[in-house]
Amino acid sequence: MQSKVAVIKVDPQAQIKEIYDPIEDAIGMLGNLFDRCPDNGTVLLKPNYGAARKETDVNPVVTHALAKILVDNGFKVVIGEDPGFRSKSGYEKWKRYVFETTGLKEYMDSIGARVVELRSGNHRTVKVTDPLYFREIEISDYALDVDMIVSLAKMKLVNICSVSLSMKNLKGVMLPDWKHKFHCDSLYQGIVDLNKTVKPHIAVIDATFAFDQVAGKAFPVGLLIISNNCVAADSVCARIMGLDPAEIEYIMLAEKAELGTANIDEIEILGEKLENLVGKYKFSKPVNPFDYAEKSNGDIEIIQGNPCSACLNELGNEFRSLGKYREKLKNITILVGPNAEIPDNDRHLVFYGNCTRKYANKENYINGCPPGRVSAGTGSLKRYLARRGSPLLNK
Ligand code: SF4
Repeated sequence: MQSKVAVIKVDPQAQIKEIYDPIEDAIGMLGNLFDRCPDNGTVLLKPNYGAARKETDVNPVVTHALAKILVDNGFKVVIGEDPGFRSKSGYEKWKRYVFETTGLKEYMDSIGARVVELRSGNHRTVKVTDPLYFREIEISDYALDVDMIVSLAKMKLVNICSVSLSMKNLKGVMLPDWKHKFHCDSLYQGIVDLNKTVKPHIAVIDATFAFDQVAGKAFPVGLLIISNNCVAADSVCARIMGLDPAEIEYIMLAEKAELGTANIDEIEILGEKLENLVGKYKFSKPVNPFDYAEKSNGDIEIIQGNPCSACLNELGNEFRSLGKYREKLKNITILVGPNAEIPDNDRHLVFYGNCTRKYANKENYINGCPPGRVSAGTGSLKRYLARRGSPLLNK
């Protein structure tokens, strides 16, 4: 099937009815988008509300308008998401924000759509065909049993993966242990294995406001990107964000796995012209902490023990902001995540983030969830290293 991507302009501040029409027009442009779902079929709308933060989650107005369109087309609509928070209190706080503060539950009740907690529903283990890494994955029954899946992502530039778009958004159909397993074992291959197994039918990317995690800010882009193929949607978004999809590893793995094309010339782009958008928005360049570790010739080592991406993303920002001091880092091992274990060697150890607080009595503990400038009042690698006499700087 020809990959088609509709890029449509919207007012970032638009309300539901002003978003409804442009999405419906885009669906019309793409043609036959709903054909794969039988009349009265069930659709899982999977919005990205992973962080319970306005800046990084999808705009509720887009979720509401999209759900209304699906309901108006005669589908049974189920809206489900699950965040990475493992603690009961973290999850309850997330649920209050997403279900109540954003108005999700009230609105969906009013239009006859059903909001579900993917976490509390059943999950089953499914074999992955021709796996890149995971031979089997435990996935929510909701994602496995519906007739059609719509991945509603937010346009985000992140350090780990470079972009977080429609393919990565699907991680919400897995329980937190599996999300963490992806992050620790093989994230890029895992995203592809998951998308092969669940196969979202429609990608919608909310760029009313996009989030630049490196700069730490959201800014009004005023676009919605809708496609019949997630690889094509993510590739077009990456171009709009000033990145080359050919340099984004998970996109290239997805293309090789024949999930779709990342070649912009092979994608039919409708609506706004891509050449008018590329370069218009000034996104930062992603900074992957593992790239720095790799280039350090062994001076920097990162030991992951099931961290979430927030710590890894912030670690990338921290390495970048160290600038010339980064080259002075010698023989350090940074432990990140709740299960990070102290290695049996004599390197300088840094315990990064509240999840390593069991080592808080050690000298090199940096607090914060995550540390760095995202959360005011937390520690940062830079501040830590700036302390006089730090043994981690090779003076
Ligand atoms: S300390 Fe880091 S790894 Fe732990 S929950 Fe916070 S951001 Fe995630």
